[in-house]
Amino acid sequence: MIFGMGVFKGMMVTLKNFLTSYVCKPDNGGIFTVQYPEEREKVIENFRNFPFLVYDETPEKIRCVACGICERECPPKCIHIEMALDAAGKPTRKPAVFDVDYGLCMNCGMCEDVCPFDSIFMDHAFEVTAPEQSEGLVRHKERLMKSNEYFQKVRPTLASAIDQKRKASEDKKKAAAAQAPAPPPPSAGGPPAKQEPK
Ligand code: SF4
Ligand code: SF4
Repeated sequence: MIFGMGVFKGMMVTLKNFLTSYVCKPDNGGIFTVQYPEEREKVIENFRNFPFLVYDETPEKIRCVACGICERECPPKCIHIEMALDAAGKPTRKPAVFDVDYGLCMNCGMCEDVCPFDSIFMDHAFEVTAPEQSEGLVRHKERLMKSNEYFQKVRPTLASAIDQKRKASEDKKKAAAAQAPAPPPPSAGGPPAKQEPK
């Protein structure tokens, strides 16, 4: 074995990588410096940062039913939910308050995993630092809500699968309702109908 061959081989690898970095595309071994913020690296679909709430068509059709499961399961307890009540004081199955403290959130995605109503998902947005700190890092419901179109844009595979699942469930409910026996007429089982005098 020639003395110094190992060092020579190592230096050749370094030289090859150095030259390749100038001629190849970033995803093929080239220079991977991104000129942020003018340029942005595309994140993978399952990249997760902070959670957001999904609504269908209009914000009134928010999917969240304020069940509180995500609030209970969130490890650092950074979710706070209060159920909205109607005029009679009955729960409406909608959140009146839904806050997430982004300062405490550890981006674990547990809220997304445990939500049984396909309401909360992890977002790709990560620019929530310095300029917004004056407002605090607690995000209220109004800022957390994003449309299903947005969800489709950032996480198309998951959003489409969930749309299909929701549609199938909706179709099943409609079919079950259509097959249900019609309710009896008001007189059936009750007192006999009053006879009109002849
Ligand atoms: S991502 Fe994790 S820490 Fe953040 S709100 Fe969801 S459950 Fe809580
Ligand atoms: S986001 Fe999901 S788990 Fe959390 S309160 Fe709303 S419906 Fe329940």
